[in-house]
Amino acid sequence: MKKEINIIFFGAPGAGKGTQAKKISSKLNLPHIDTGNLIREAIINKTELGQRAQSFVESGKLVTDQLVIDLIREKLIVLKDRHYKGFILDGYPRTIPQANALGSLFGELNLELTNVINIQAPEDMLVKRLSSRRICTNKNCGAIYNLITKKPMTENKCDLCGSNLYQRKDDTEEAAHERLNEYNNKTAPLEKYYREKDKLTDIDGTKDPNNVYNEILRLVDSHK
Ligand SMILES: [Zn+2]
Repeated sequence: MKKEINIIFFGAPGAGKGTQAKKISSKLNLPHIDTGNLIREAIINKTELGQRAQSFVESGKLVTDQLVIDLIREKLIVLKDRHYKGFILDGYPRTIPQANALGSLFGELNLELTNVINIQAPEDMLVKRLSSRRICTNKNCGAIYNLITKKPMTENKCDLCGSNLYQRKDDTEEAAHERLNEYNNKTAPLEKYYREKDKLTDIDGTKDPNNVYNEILRLVDSHK
């Protein structure tokens, strides 16, 4: 029997975590768990947790840690009912208390964390990447570009639909510094947390995304 692969993707905004998590998830057919999507899904499906999440969203408040961990529990229980292969958790945990809660949940569900993949890149590169994103103004298209890694063929025009591109307010350099400060304060301590548990593997996120992808793929394959 093959081993379960229970992986967390970790890294600063701009490190390429979300992109890599999605690619690896589809390549290995491992469910990709993104907490933002979990919340949206629960709200759409009007589950009990979803209704609670909706009341937070409607009142403009952040969904509580407890509710998020309950959503993850619900998701993992559903996955475990099927032919269980594991999961890729993307964007969670973001704080030490969340990591502790997740650790307890794994204990409760008898799951073992396989690895935390830590995609690293220096801060100046992250700022550059975070402020290089451009998005198609056509809401039905929404294609995402990056002036460094995925340039549009014609400057400021969408390759897919020809509409203009724009920069989101939270993709400016100033916003990038703010996001990275928040990450450094709240989330970066998790690096030490998982390293001490001997669960962290560093990946050089400065390389070409395809190289990063291949390196992660080899690493995950080695856990099978
Ligand atoms: Zn477009």
